Amino acid sequence: MEKLSNPQVTIQTIKKYEFAFQKKFGQNFLIDDHVITKIINAAEITKDDLVLEIGPGIGTMTQYLAESARKVIAVEIDKNLIPILGETLAEYDNVTVINEDILKLDINRLVEEENAGKPIKVVANLPYYITTPIIMGLFESHVPLQSITVMVQKEVADRMQVGPGSKDYGALSLAVQYYAKPYIAANVPPNCFIPRPGVGSAVIRLTRYEEPPVTVKDESLMFKLIRASFNQRRKTLQNGIANSPELPYSKAQVEKALEKMGLAANVRGESLTLAEFAKLSDIISEE
Ligand code: SAM
Repeated sequence: MEKLSNPQVTIQTIKKYEFAFQKKFGQNFLIDDHVITKIINAAEITKDDLVLEIGPGIGTMTQYLAESARKVIAVEIDKNLIPILGETLAEYDNVTVINEDILKLDINRLVEEENAGKPIKVVANLPYYITTPIIMGLFESHVPLQSITVMVQKEVADRMQVGPGSKDYGALSLAVQYYAKPYIAANVPPNCFIPRPGVGSAVIRLTRYEEPPVTVKDESLMFKLIRASFNQRRKTLQNGIANSPELPYSKAQVEKALEKMGLAANVRGESLTLAEFAKLSDIISEE
């Protein structure tokens, strides 16, 4: 069949199946082959790769993935899309569609069964309402992966990529950058989708580090400190940490740790690098 990246083919398919878009599932389907090609190129997919696609929709990007990868596993929550995918992907024998909520799927088990535990590539035009839980879930559950190449809201891509000192810098930047090297491959306007989203989009590739770029004794404590530091944006890091119900440290203890690091008592979270948060975590745990 002709590719779904041709907007006419997408419209015909949607009409044929009387498919109704569901806002609650973040359904904005791609209708631009240049954008899809950019995603595929940014993901650097080869015939050796097992690709996990989250939310194939009617299969627009899946058709391209199937042509470049060894195997594609596409996980789609909306059961109304499953019969459509049966038709649009009929000519590809290397695609498996799973009708499941990606947040409930045991992806580690899937990688073990389908790729003998070897690292996979994740590629998706993500449902924006669950961008952060999907990405952090993949990292935190230590799914073996080489990279995640995804379409996300432009503002979220910026937050993942920036360093200290920017208004976009926060807990998400630090969490993503602990696990992966971010690279924004393209900015994508709303007219590349049907229906058009109300926000701009961007394609970001997160290349997983084999070893984290900083060493820290207690990863979980560091992330608690990061979250607390950014919880109350206009407060100092000291107040954020001392007020956190997740952490046992007093203002005086935080101040002492900051002093040991040569940082001012009124420093704000947005000026600390990942390496500084790692150091703060190591020092404060010894208080
Ligand atoms: N990949 C298609 C494309 O580019 O045209 C569709 C992308 S659309 C932005 C997001 C897709 O994710 C939709 O098909 C939606 O039904 C699906 N989805 C939403 N929540 C999901 C979840 N929790 N698990 C799996 N798929 C989900």
